[in-house]
Amino acid sequence: MKTFNQLSTEEKNQLKQDLDQRYESFRSQNLSLNMTRGVPSPEQLDLSMDLLTCVSSNYRTENGIDCRNYGGVDGIPEAKRLFAEYMGVSTDEIIVGGNSSLTLMHDTFMRAMIKGIDADNPPWSQQGKIKFICPAPGYDRHFSICNYLNIEMITVEMTDDGLNMDEIESLVAEDNTIKGIWCVPKYSNPTGITYSDDVVERLAAMKTSASDFRIFLDNAYAVHDHTDTPDILMPVLDACRRAGNPDRVYMFGSTAKITFAGAGVSCMAASKANIDWIRSQMIFQSIGPDKINQLRHVIFFKNLDGLYQLMRKHAKILKPKFEAIQNVLNRELGALEIAQWTNPRGGYFVSVNTPEGCAKEVVAMTKKAGVMFTPAGATYPYQNDPMNRNIRLAPSFPPVADIEKATELLAICIQRVALDKMQ
Ligand code: PMP
Repeated sequence: MKTFNQLSTEEKNQLKQDLDQRYESFRSQNLSLNMTRGVPSPEQLDLSMDLLTCVSSNYRTENGIDCRNYGGVDGIPEAKRLFAEYMGVSTDEIIVGGNSSLTLMHDTFMRAMIKGIDADNPPWSQQGKIKFICPAPGYDRHFSICNYLNIEMITVEMTDDGLNMDEIESLVAEDNTIKGIWCVPKYSNPTGITYSDDVVERLAAMKTSASDFRIFLDNAYAVHDHTDTPDILMPVLDACRRAGNPDRVYMFGSTAKITFAGAGVSCMAASKANIDWIRSQMIFQSIGPDKINQLRHVIFFKNLDGLYQLMRKHAKILKPKFEAIQNVLNRELGALEIAQWTNPRGGYFVSVNTPEGCAKEVVAMTKKAGVMFTPAGATYPYQNDPMNRNIRLAPSFPPVADIEKATELLAICIQRVALDKMQ
């Protein structure tokens, strides 16, 4: 089979006609499919229904705290123990919070802006224009936090092993207004990439011009493996410690994609010094998190092994959805050499690169035929994908048959837009 570039003018005209016909047949189906956000499917949520009943009359922690009442700003002891193990830290290096890790990230930013990252450094907001490194394609809500706080975002393209460390090292070495970097180190949103050991070690050891530099490490997909040969992330806090930068990293996680997306448990892990500094300010924000939710999660999981068992059930549901995308993209685009896409071993997304300059038009075209993808550009700071080529696919929610349809339409639109652009 020929690649796109090898097609003669006649063959391109014929292909155009075929694609137009297929597109019209999609339009006539009046589809309404949504592949925009990484939302667990009802089938996945059903796996955790016991959460709704498992506390019943049992509302006390192991040391007798009544979870119905106020108190315990950084989490109940058994939840701290479980999530410390989950995050690979000790119990004085963890805060267990409410339902959303994004809230913890947002609040950590706010505290750095208003109070600084420790007692020795001035607040970020009193240092003039500050900047953040934003590996892209990345998670749009991370970029929204920076945008909201007027923090300038520096886009650094992701690489196959995670980050372009040469570029990042030279940026942070020279510019003391760069205060941090966003990282999704495992099954990254949306590329599915897991950082190599080399990337983790260089992040931990790099010289930063700013004394108040922080890595915001959002490990949202830490245990979200689809296969029996999962990616393994080198423990980042340990790497920072070995490199002599124990306070460099804030790590975040949650059970949003383990139990209930809207009613899970979040956590934040970092050095004891960081956690003590943050806890000392949390007391002004809340008298304590939802301890009943923390308790029922501990009872529901029993232990970390229980959590892993649950993740294997998620994998069974998710794997065919991800395979459906690969099958359709391989069938439709495999030989053409016009698009690249990721084939992650876990996480919630597939990232597709169209030919340069096509992504916006492709997403607009699928939308006209009733299939919504995440808006092109959303995976970049300022919604500006300089090459206008990245599209994020989020297959967790729809059933396999819908994913197949949506992906086929996407492939048709990529070819159709590419034909116009390349002639
Ligand atoms: N981080 C990443 C990278 C995500 O993809 C998501 C959800 N799409 C979140 C955080 C949201 O996490 P939470 O529900 O715990 O706020």
